[in-house]
Amino acid sequence: MGQAEKMLKRLVESGLDCADDEKSLFAASVDNMRYSFLPRFVVRAKSGDDVEKTMRAAYDFEVPVTVRGSGTGCAGGCVPTLGGAVLDLSGIDFIEIDPVSRVAHVGAGAVTAHIDAKANGFGLFYAPDPSSHKYSSIGGNIACNAGGLRALKYGTTREHVLSLAAVLADGRKISCGLPLKKYSVGQNLRDMFIGSEGTLGIVTEAWLKLLPLPSAKTAALAYFDDDGSAFNGIERIMRANLAPCVLEFMDTETVACVRARNPGLSVPENAAAILAEFDGERNETLFQARKFAETLSPFSDAEFAVEDSAMAKLWEVRRSASQSMYELGDSKISQDIVLPNGVLRDFFSFYKDLGRSKKLATPVFGHAGDGNYHIHFMYDSSDAGARARALEAMDASIEKAVELGGAVSGEHGIGFLKSKYMPLQHGALELELMSSIKRLFDPKNILNPGKIYAPSDIEGLSPLKGLKLPWD
Ligand SMILES: Cc1cc2nc3c(=O)[nH]c(=O)nc-3n(C[C@H](O)[C@H](O)[C@H](O)COP(=O)(O)OP(=O)(O)OC[C@H]3O[C@@H](n4cnc5c(N)ncnc54)[C@H](O)[C@@H]3O)c2cc1C
Repeated sequence: MGQAEKMLKRLVESGLDCADDEKSLFAASVDNMRYSFLPRFVVRAKSGDDVEKTMRAAYDFEVPVTVRGSGTGCAGGCVPTLGGAVLDLSGIDFIEIDPVSRVAHVGAGAVTAHIDAKANGFGLFYAPDPSSHKYSSIGGNIACNAGGLRALKYGTTREHVLSLAAVLADGRKISCGLPLKKYSVGQNLRDMFIGSEGTLGIVTEAWLKLLPLPSAKTAALAYFDDDGSAFNGIERIMRANLAPCVLEFMDTETVACVRARNPGLSVPENAAAILAEFDGERNETLFQARKFAETLSPFSDAEFAVEDSAMAKLWEVRRSASQSMYELGDSKISQDIVLPNGVLRDFFSFYKDLGRSKKLATPVFGHAGDGNYHIHFMYDSSDAGARARALEAMDASIEKAVELGGAVSGEHGIGFLKSKYMPLQHGALELELMSSIKRLFDPKNILNPGKIYAPSDIEGLSPLKGLKLPWD
């Protein structure tokens, strides 16, 4: 009997919910990027105790364990590239709200939007809102330091986690901090887990900061003649005394795709767009939206909306961006780079020229203001050399972003798909320190092995075609 079989036997005998049927293995083999690696078996944890038992067995038998929340990840982080067990945390999904402390105590598998909805019932809200919030788990958000549309005003997941509990690679449980707004007692272990993508330990529960729910929102949408005018618009908004919670950019290629896919939305021809949202008291949101329109008036006539249905119509332009870009090809290579606001023209002229020279479409949308852009190279799978050209073009674009002072990833993390970019972002000493920390937490290298610290080459791999996931 192999090591994985011995581990499975022990877990089944301990009464844990394990599965090794074809359907369960396949479901645990992919994330949103669709590169499939089958595990030997799946453990569906229902409590922190299940996680401790699983890790004790994994440690004894030296079996790799890949942690899985909801599988919406965009870096192959929850994919078991080295086989072994997948530990599915979606069953640890309790949510308790303490309205007096304004804190949510949640299980790692709780769905982000469910936490926000439950907090709303107490006049509170959970600010980080990744576009995947109806599906993503809070454990996955913490592991990737997820951002979201409101990150410009409220920050990313890191700013909203007060404390957490985690299980280490050998099955011991630790607590990191307390659910207090202020805490200054020794080293901050909590922040080691945020953004470490399940490679240092497994987050089982967390205490999150909640904020008073704004009473009103106003959305505003502005179209521009070209991308350069939209960049001017972003600069003017950032210089003005304006505090949008959302500031989304869509370039001319993206807007053209949205127009083609959604004739009912009255999207103009040849336009770039910025969508903003303001939250707070009604007077304040209206004041800000009018100021937004004034600020952009040399370039654009912004329209704004306060009623839910009218706001939803403006939002639809942004919400349909991701799917609409399949107008430009049935396949894509995409990344979520971050750029300092001052280099947008330099970066995007390089990237668009590269697309033209490689005969690839280059639609972009992103969280303007915080500089987090989703760049794409779109192509048709029937074009034999296109994937290789797209991969090459993406490597060059990432290199350019870093050269201009930007980052390889703003919110999706590294997983195995981007680990080759780590040396671009970090020096040898920083990389060695990170690997030493990994060894300290996980001396047998059983937690999410093959991710972040190990360089990977994806050229020979292909994502699955035609696989429909719940959020598509
Ligand atoms: C349509 C769509 C829109 C998206 N929009 C955004 C966005 O706006 N902002 C953004 O930041 N991301 C976005 N994402 C990416 C993704 O939703 C986030 O990375 C999210 O945080 C992943 O959560 P998950 O529960 O699906 O994690 P998974 O995909 O299951 O796992 C992601 C990583 O976290 C690790 N992990 C999961 N749970 C735990 C745990 N409890 N303890 C330790 N490690 C754990 C996994 O091992 C893996 O490395 C989007 C994805 C999709 C499909």
